[in-house]
Amino acid sequence: MVYREFGKTGEKISSLGFGCMRLPEKEIGGKKVIDEDKALPMLMRAYELGVNYFDTAPYYCNKNSEMAVGKALKSVRDKVLISTKIPMGDECKDKGHLRRCLEASLKKLDTDYIDFYHFWGINQDCFDAQIMGMDLIGEALRCKEEGLIRHISFSFHDKAEVIRHIIETCPYMESMLVQYNLLDRSNEEMLAYAHEKGLGTVVMGPVAGGRLAAPKELYKKLTGTESATSYELAFKFVLGNTNVSCALSGMQTIEMVEKNVRVINEGAHISEDEWRGLADAMAELKKFAQLYCTGCGYCQPCPKGIKIPKIFEAYTYHNVYGLSELAKKMWEDYQSKEDCAGIDTCVNCGFCEKKCPQKLAVREELKRVVQVLDRL
Ligand code: SF4
Ligand code: SF4
Repeated sequence: MVYREFGKTGEKISSLGFGCMRLPEKEIGGKKVIDEDKALPMLMRAYELGVNYFDTAPYYCNKNSEMAVGKALKSVRDKVLISTKIPMGDECKDKGHLRRCLEASLKKLDTDYIDFYHFWGINQDCFDAQIMGMDLIGEALRCKEEGLIRHISFSFHDKAEVIRHIIETCPYMESMLVQYNLLDRSNEEMLAYAHEKGLGTVVMGPVAGGRLAAPKELYKKLTGTESATSYELAFKFVLGNTNVSCALSGMQTIEMVEKNVRVINEGAHISEDEWRGLADAMAELKKFAQLYCTGCGYCQPCPKGIKIPKIFEAYTYHNVYGLSELAKKMWEDYQSKEDCAGIDTCVNCGFCEKKCPQKLAVREELKRVVQVLDRL
């Protein structure tokens, strides 16, 4: 296992982290519970193979994940870094919310302290109104002084530039957890910024929620060879970025743990030149995609409810990235949604074409694209 400096926290973190949101479950009396016979040895196996960062949260696995993580890692508690989260938004009514949630997590994890305590899935409103406005950050600092939290962190779901606002406003954040992968590089610049400011950076979704796990076509398109799967490529891309400390994977079986560790050990750590080559190749593909539909949404709302960018996006995954299975699934999802109208409802008003900065013949293209998607 390769370990990296975790920002300025003084910790060394394994480059593969365990995302504990999909632990194996079973049903007892109609209720879903963790299948401990499978989950506990799997977590321990990951530890034995060098994984030292375990990320859980109060609601994962029907609220059972924290308990399983605490139980599995009890005997090695001082050798691992446990991360959990405080739910924000509507649930947070006062600053006492932090201590209540923290105490509940400590109890479930059966531990005296949390290594990385995350404000969970925050956006700018939540940061301004709750973390700063209601002084949850002050409460977190008190808990830190009491030794209940070792490091204060946040996980993030908003526009990338909000990360700068958070880090500039609040100097107490020590690490962050954000989405980043080959298909979604929107946080790339902010990962560099956070790294420069001394935060540890953990990436979720390195294989794009499984979307990059299957097809080889993407790797072939990017590198011209078939020597690796796009799954490996996805890890190489994420960990080839030196601003990333750790990539989280939501592992579900011992085989998956062993496979991921193997992928990481056998060279997910590529040189900066190789990484740049991949990033450039990806940008080339994207440029080609952007000539087509940028997803800007100016053609919306279509008066009939045709979600034009969604249809074109599914086509792009097939046509540009070679991710045909994903495109098929996206198209099936689209067709199953009530608020996504079919193109047969188009009344030829022409609004979309007037608005499209790419000057696309939207109506003609929709017909062509839908024929392709229907055949996948
Ligand atoms: S031309 Fe058709 S697709 Fe375009 S905005 Fe009008 S109804 Fe929607
Ligand atoms: S306006 Fe044009 S480029 Fe923008 S999302 Fe619609 S079709 Fe795509």
